[in-house]
Amino acid sequence: MIAAESKQNKTKITKVTSFAAINECQLTKDKSLHSLIEINPGEIISEFGSKEVLDTPNYLTVQISDSEHIMLAPEFLQYINHSCSPNVFFDTTNMVVMALQKIEIGEEFTFFYPSTEWSMDQGFDCLCQSENCLEYIQGAAHLPPEILRKYKLSQYIEQKLEN
Ligand SMILES: [Zn+2]
Repeated sequence: MIAAESKQNKTKITKVTSFAAINECQLTKDKSLHSLIEINPGEIISEFGSKEVLDTPNYLTVQISDSEHIMLAPEFLQYINHSCSPNVFFDTTNMVVMALQKIEIGEEFTFFYPSTEWSMDQGFDCLCQSENCLEYIQGAAHLPPEILRKYKLSQYIEQKLEN
């Protein structure tokens, strides 16, 4: 209880749009995006576009083709972290962020990085704590197809799997 309280005191919350806020942990400086509203599965949460298009990936980019990695606009979308049990999906064909599950007020938005990323420039140990956590995330190219098939994937990743 004490731990939970002090943790909360050390989180800076900044509202960035009508429906979302960035939570920043004052200890680790980790940022995450949280919902300010209730969202139903299938609902479009936001449109997105590219602030910049890069030809190589970095930890903030979203992949839209073999050679195009976009820096997200609006920028706050870049604070949507990875989870192996995601609640949103980046649809890179229609350029919208869609809810995969019911999202409650205060809940963190998460997406499955390999649903858009074929091979990330740096992998990381996942700490999402979901039951089906895949533990090490480095993009779709590094996961067995039968695991990927359990997730909603971008058209780009679907095409890569067929080849
Ligand atoms: Zn995980």
